[in-house]
Amino acid sequence: MVTELQVETSGQRVLQDITAQVEQAVAGSGAAEGVCYLFVPHTTAGITLNENWDPDVRGDLVRALAAVVPDVRFEHGEGNSPAHLLSTLVGSSVTLLVRGGRPLLGRWQGVYLAEFDGPRRRRVLVKVVPDP
Ligand code: ZN
Repeated sequence: MVTELQVETSGQRVLQDITAQVEQAVAGSGAAEGVCYLFVPHTTAGITLNENWDPDVRGDLVRALAAVVPDVRFEHGEGNSPAHLLSTLVGSSVTLLVRGGRPLLGRWQGVYLAEFDGPRRRRVLVKVVPDP
């Protein structure tokens, strides 16, 4: 079974903390041990792991990612090619291990939906596969 998280992003470019929602989805799956796949079905957003202690890290990453966008001629008529580029750089999926009914994250890690063309309503698909 695939479950779906709904995420309302709060700005044009933000790293939105979805760790609590992911933990809830893993708990709801009933799996004690296994693997959790997270997939973002969007072309101008991504998903990543990073520090969830100092919120300045998120802002720093967003600013640094914006600075990665090169000064080239984009032809895509929608005008959001930088968002498409950043989505590809960050990636569309994350795999987590599950132990004790919780996603196994490092002490300072959180799960972030990386929004590059918001604010929008985004979806995160979650598949938890329990150990046999
Ligand atoms: Zn586009």
